[in-house]
Amino acid sequence: MISESVLNLNRNGSAIRAMFEEGTKMIKEFGKENVYDYSLGNPSVEPPKEVKEAMLSVLTSEEPNAVHGYMNNAGYEDVRAAVAAHLNKNFGTAFQARNILMTVGAAGGLNVILKVLVNPGDEILTFAPFFGEYRNYVNNFNGKLVTVPTDPETFTPVAEKLLEAITPKTKALIINNPNNPTGVVYSEETIQSIAAVLSAKEKEYGTSIYLIADEPYRELVYDGVSVPYLTKYYKNTIVGYSYSKSLSLPGERIGYLVMPDELDDAEEIIPGAAVANRVLGFVNAPSLIQRTIMNCLDASVDVEIYNRNRELLYTKLTEYGYTCIKPQGAFYLFVKAPGGDDKVFVQEAKKYHLLVVAGSGFGGPGYIRIAYCVDYDMIVRSLPAFESLAKEFGLK
Ligand code: PLP
Repeated sequence: MISESVLNLNRNGSAIRAMFEEGTKMIKEFGKENVYDYSLGNPSVEPPKEVKEAMLSVLTSEEPNAVHGYMNNAGYEDVRAAVAAHLNKNFGTAFQARNILMTVGAAGGLNVILKVLVNPGDEILTFAPFFGEYRNYVNNFNGKLVTVPTDPETFTPVAEKLLEAITPKTKALIINNPNNPTGVVYSEETIQSIAAVLSAKEKEYGTSIYLIADEPYRELVYDGVSVPYLTKYYKNTIVGYSYSKSLSLPGERIGYLVMPDELDDAEEIIPGAAVANRVLGFVNAPSLIQRTIMNCLDASVDVEIYNRNRELLYTKLTEYGYTCIKPQGAFYLFVKAPGGDDKVFVQEAKKYHLLVVAGSGFGGPGYIRIAYCVDYDMIVRSLPAFESLAKEFGLK
């Protein structure tokens, strides 16, 4: 008999993955042109050409042991130094190689830092709606995920709600900016209010409350908004970054954690993260892609492609009567489910070959998530389906 926890995971499955698999089946039945799959946050934009060039140059390097071998569990020293220098240049920070741990994507980084921080029963806070996998990651270490509601109109964090949610058992707050699933970007003012609450509560309880900044969408922003770099606002901040979305490399599994020297217990956390990377079975982040990204730290995908999708979909859906915030980051629209029940709407949408994901899985019941990291032409083809659904649900 397998473990209870995996039995539960099997039973509950991932709504996103289930929808993606359903899409694959539907494509076989109805043809690719006639299925509109908005389920998965899989980047549709090609990685920048520098990535391929850098990868080829690493592979053809004559240097012995330049790649493929075991290394320090934290990653290659020169790669970590280059990442630190890149951050210092962009954000005016003062990180060194020791502050960086190369990870197996954002997911790997989050699991590593939770392994380092969480004792059974510790509470990990996050603002809802949130990336549903956080629940599983926190469960991996027998922690308790506690969700904190945001402003129902804007999905931005509310300081008073955070204040109410913190207890002496609160070990960390995971904050995801820009946000999946809402596409909202938290402003500097919001970040300052969060930092003030955390600092006050640390003082009150005499504990350390870590802020874990999950930032795979940092560069995917529109309308000129900027995303505050959180280590500047709050001492106990650990940043988790990933190249999955910013360079369209989710299958390569590469990212990093930033653990500043200023952290309480930095002298334990930093070596602890390297050990956690090893004992969780990652051992180290993949070597070829570590070396590759070192040579394209300034590269980026063409965000304008996502922006064009965002504009079209947002304009048309609101024209048809759907209600949604115009997202300023990531590549998701979080739309009020017509009729009020997200699960019912998702089932109904399938009849029009539209695949979207119920907000319930993100702690946002009554909403659906539409991932617009898709071909523009697919959006155009899908519009009549959205319009028919709107009519069916009596919008406008
Ligand atoms: N965090 C958020 C908010 C995400 O949306 C995702 C992936 O979609 C991840 C973490 C995991 O990213 P990675 O593929 O880098 O592990």
